[in-house]
Amino acid sequence: MEHIDRPVVIGGGAAGLAACLTLQAAGMSPLLLEASDRLGGRLRTEQMADGTRVDVGFQVLLTAYPELKRWVDMSALEPVRFVPGARIHKGGRWRTLADPRRRPGTLPATLTSGIGTWADRFRMLRLVLEVMRGSAEDVQSRATSGTALDDLKARGFSEGFIRDFLQSFFSGIFLDKALTPPPAQFLYTLRMFASGDVVRPAGGVEALVHQLQGKLERTEVRLQQRVVSFESGHILTEHGADWVAPQIICTVPSLLDGRPPVRWHGCLNVVFATSERSFGKPIIGLLPEAHSVTNFHFMEDVQGAEGQGKLNATAVLEYGQNVDGAVLAMQSDLRAAGLAVGEVLWKAHIPEALPAMREVRPAMAQPKISEGLYIAGDATAAPSLDAALRSGRVAAEALIQSKRSTTP
Ligand SMILES: Cc1cc2nc3c(=O)[nH]c(=O)nc-3n(C[C@H](O)[C@H](O)[C@H](O)COP(=O)(O)OP(=O)(O)OC[C@H]3O[C@@H](n4cnc5c(N)ncnc54)[C@H](O)[C@@H]3O)c2cc1C
Repeated sequence: MEHIDRPVVIGGGAAGLAACLTLQAAGMSPLLLEASDRLGGRLRTEQMADGTRVDVGFQVLLTAYPELKRWVDMSALEPVRFVPGARIHKGGRWRTLADPRRRPGTLPATLTSGIGTWADRFRMLRLVLEVMRGSAEDVQSRATSGTALDDLKARGFSEGFIRDFLQSFFSGIFLDKALTPPPAQFLYTLRMFASGDVVRPAGGVEALVHQLQGKLERTEVRLQQRVVSFESGHILTEHGADWVAPQIICTVPSLLDGRPPVRWHGCLNVVFATSERSFGKPIIGLLPEAHSVTNFHFMEDVQGAEGQGKLNATAVLEYGQNVDGAVLAMQSDLRAAGLAVGEVLWKAHIPEALPAMREVRPAMAQPKISEGLYIAGDATAAPSLDAALRSGRVAAEALIQSKRSTTP
């Protein structure tokens, strides 16, 4: 048994990284234990057989996320900006719906898109103005239970607009076709979309991890250290390491006894070969009439030459759903929309992509579980990168506060 005289952080995803950076800033030198062979958790980028970089599950960064602003030098990631809106295939033709406040040139196309009614577009504008009022924290604290879908219906949006745009767009964001996240999560996300850019780092989402990792000057990182249990400050790993630490921040909620199991939304991400001409700009494509595909983009529009001839599509996948069958369903959805897609070049099935939460706890006011034990991770707060980073920071701040109050 080894006694450690500094905080231990379990899990090196976004929450663990933010926790370590916060502890470092307070002069501490945490020990970070990560089960896998690299940091980043769900922020992962791979290379396809031909070297094209692809994120393991299509993800975007919203530059308005307060925690991204706090920790990340976005310009160093060479962000590629998506057009704020979507290209939607409906009734046999492509239509554009974009935010005319930020892309005035798209106003005529948006007004004549035929997606929703005039009243829907007016309600949408009113909703955007509503979520932009007050602070981001205020918006996060509104209606933390209930479902986003019921809230949108109550606001009077037509069934067609909900189906063709809101549900189609946001099911890809929440990986949940039924839009069950609480209204607060939806409204907060809408505010983030409306007040900043939607980007992908040129090198893929893992570039963000490398940037944060480069700042871990006072943190000792130990990889391939899967923690199997911890109790009263006593940490055991699968390879038999046995440590006693004064404080622990656990970013893997499933390790804690007595907590309800995390329910997950899963997805399937497939890169198809395509002979189709791309949209010519980075924009998300939606197929509201599809059975399986939630969104797609032409990789050439986002990644230039390396993405040529590749279409990246995502489908929400429920537990137990057959992956091969889902790939065929995606192919047939894309073809039904007139998109010439061919062989599968790459695919990833991510069964535990986003926590399914009936209630969000945006502020994570109570990260302290017991003396010396703190909890973080998106599943303890809300399903987003912003919430994961915030949960790590808030847990570390609570630890620092407690240490200061007990240090003579
Ligand atoms: C496909 C997909 C799409 C997404 N899209 C978006 C998006 O567009 N926008 C957005 O904001 N968010 C998105 N997210 C969510 C975002 O990526 C996550 O919220 C965030 O990365 C979670 O960070 P975390 O630290 O809480 O958890 P994780 O990233 O899961 O980190 C947990 C870490 O703990 C390690 N670990 C697990 N068990 C142990 C153990 N026993 N001992 C030690 N270490 C352990 C894991 O290996 C991992 O590194 C998406 C996620 C996915 C997968």
